[in-house]
This record gives sequence, structure tokens and C-alpha cells, in this order.
Amino acid sequence: MKTKEEKTLVIVKPDGIQRSLIGEIIKRYERVGLKLAALKMVVSTEELIEKHYSSDSNWRIKNGEKSIKSYRDKGLKPPTEDPMEMSGITLEKLKKYMSSGPVICMVWQGAHAVEIVRKITGGTEPLTSDVGTIRGDFVLDSYQISDTDGRAVRNLIHASGSIEEANKEIALWFSKEETLCYSLVQEKILYDINLDGILE
Ligand code: ADP
Ligand code: MG
Repeated sequence: MKTKEEKTLVIVKPDGIQRSLIGEIIKRYERVGLKLAALKMVVSTEELIEKHYSSDSNWRIKNGEKSIKSYRDKGLKPPTEDPMEMSGITLEKLKKYMSSGPVICMVWQGAHAVEIVRKITGGTEPLTSDVGTIRGDFVLDSYQISDTDGRAVRNLIHASGSIEEANKEIALWFSKEETLCYSLVQEKILYDINLDGILE
């Protein structure tokens, strides 16, 4: 697949819907030049959430290590030293969080879609995600508070972490017919080699 046609999955999580941030979130991805290829609102089952986070076989270890590192970086003691135990607990919390209300699932398409969307979305923990990113600007949660309260980190959005992850996740949430193929007029300006056709 050409880089310009790269696709990524974005989910506005239940807290994003409840915070009335749907428009704000869509605007961020739209204004950078990405194309919306699919969109729907659903209430997910816990089974689908489990499948979603199991589609990358390394997710459990990566997620556990990231959470433990975040505690250590702040000079705090993680709840456990075992990454698999850590992410196992997180997965149970995530199943509840992600199926607690409607979510909006979207496929965004364009050059470097996966990386660009992750950049705009920001890091996992809102406390430390950059200012200017969606998670950095619109929410204030942390690993510490969410762990104390025994729930998942509320960070408004899911965004695929790699092209491989994106392809698996898109196939999980959307049927083939639901992802649309069409041109956007702005693609001429974003991708056209010579920018010809502007002057009459
Ligand atoms: P990201 O969503 O940034 O790709 P992960 O894939 O590692 O992050 O984790 C998936 C989601 O699980 C996060 O967005 C967050 O909502 C939640 N989460 C991650 N780590 C923890 C944790 N240690 N405690 C509670 N919730 C977590
Ligand atoms: Mg992830």
C-alpha cells in the first residue's frame, strides 16, 4: 500500500463522547489534511474490547512496561513489578471503560496516517502528554489517580500504534463495505507533484 493511502483507526472513547468533544476531536484530524474513510457510533461489548487489545500480541508486555516505567520516572513505586500482571489488570479495567457507553469509531487515511494521528492524539497519560495534543489539552488523568481509584486511564481517544495494528483493528471494527474509497479535492494540493492547475 502507498504511504499516502495509509489508514489508521481512531475511537472516541466513552469519556470523549460524554465530555462533548466529538467535534473538537474530529476537527484536529481533519484540519491536518487526513481523509475520513469510515465513521460509526456503537456501544461495544467487553468481548470486542478484549479482541481489540489482543490483536497485537506484544501489547500486554509493551503496555505493562510503559506503565511501570511511568511510575519509576516520577520516583513512585509501581503497583507491581511484573509487566504481564500490570497489563492484565489494565485490560480488565479497559473492558469496563470502553463498553460503558457509546463510542465513535473512525478510519482516517492519508500520508503517515498512523504516526500523524498518534502525534496529534498525544501520549497515553494525560498528565504527561504534550500541550497542544488532544490528550494534553482536554483531560487531566494520571496512572496514579486511575490506579488509586481502580479504573482505566481516561484519555478520550484510542489511536492505532502501528500500521500492522491499524490494519487488524480496522478489520475488527469495520466491514469492507463500511470503509469508503473516494477522492478529496484537497489531495491535489497535498500530494500533487507540480501544483499545476492553480493558475488559469
Ligand atoms: P495508547 O492508548 O496510548 O496506545 P496503551 O495501548 O498502552 O496506550 O493502553 C491502552 C489504554 O489503556 C490507554 O489508552 C488507557 O486508557 C489505558 N491504560 C493504559 N495503561 C494503563 C494503566 N497502567 N492503568 C490504567 N489504565 C491504563
Ligand atoms: Mg495502544
